[in-house]
Amino acid sequence: SDAYHSCARYEDPTAEMERKGWLGADLVFDIDVDHIPTPCNKVHDEWTCCGCGFSGKGITPEKCPICGGEKFEESTWLCQECMDTAKNETIKLLEVLKEDFGFSDGDMHIYFSGHRGYHVHVESEVVQSLDAISRKEIVDYICGIGFDTDSQSLIWGKTGKSSNWHARITREIRELILNANEEDLEEQVGLKKKIATALLKSRDRFLKSLEGRAEPWKAVKGVGLETWKKIFAYCAQKGFVKIDTVVTADVHRLVRMANTLHGKTGFKKTELSMAGIDNFDPFKDAVALRKGEVTVLVHNAPQFRLCDEIFGPYKNVKVELPTAAAVLLICKGKAEVQK
Ligand SMILES: [Zn+2]
Ligand SMILES: [Zn+2]
Repeated sequence: SDAYHSCARYEDPTAEMERKGWLGADLVFDIDVDHIPTPCNKVHDEWTCCGCGFSGKGITPEKCPICGGEKFEESTWLCQECMDTAKNETIKLLEVLKEDFGFSDGDMHIYFSGHRGYHVHVESEVVQSLDAISRKEIVDYICGIGFDTDSQSLIWGKTGKSSNWHARITREIRELILNANEEDLEEQVGLKKKIATALLKSRDRFLKSLEGRAEPWKAVKGVGLETWKKIFAYCAQKGFVKIDTVVTADVHRLVRMANTLHGKTGFKKTELSMAGIDNFDPFKDAVALRKGEVTVLVHNAPQFRLCDEIFGPYKNVKVELPTAAAVLLICKGKAEVQK
């Protein structure tokens, strides 16, 4: 069963809600691929409107585009790309919390959620009394809400006016220009072919202009201010952290207890150390049920890995699987127990 505790601290936790006396709450962040656009969600996630039956692939919309209904049936999966994306966002979040907010490693607890994401709890005393509005401001800063990339792309060049975000965006730009090919610049950034070609031809000069922040929109012929703004905006979006904005602002949130199993996977909610996150492997380190086999009828499941074993893909087959693999498929609605 699913076990939760409140992120809030109360004077008298056993009293009725209004009389509990709210003392404060940890600052909680939720990173979940449910809210992050990944290339893989178009492959393995599907939603169906409960109102009219209309269905689609990828992230579930807030409202059905056909009937406006807000109830959906979802079928999602978790693949390596999902988990890598969520981990990368978590690492970005930890960096901002440390560099921009000054929290120390000891202030923060990191958890794998047990499903498709990570939680970060800031438990230091200074956050406890923050109200919902202050928490929303922190969210906005971390997600880049209200960060006007158009004007910021110009401020960027002026020394003394640069923020940590400018430094991170510069890092993203450098990485993009170093690694992108023409198609990437066309498809992802939206540059014209001619401009992408000119930029990559003078890659080194453009990169050099980033170092001194010497108006890079003047560094390469044919790569002007409009192109710079596009690159800047694209890289800013890449740099901002994709957190679930609702969770952090909610001061009465219930959070799953660590070391309990998640009902959608059978995986364990696992606490990680700051140093341990890089090498954390959810498909191995969060696997809880390590004994026995179960025979299941698998309707449809993509290939996946648990520990060091590869399973599937399966379609309408009866297979005997290690308990953890069988439970994962059952929890995700992909299989049922076969007697
Ligand atoms: Zn509908
Ligand atoms: Zn995926």
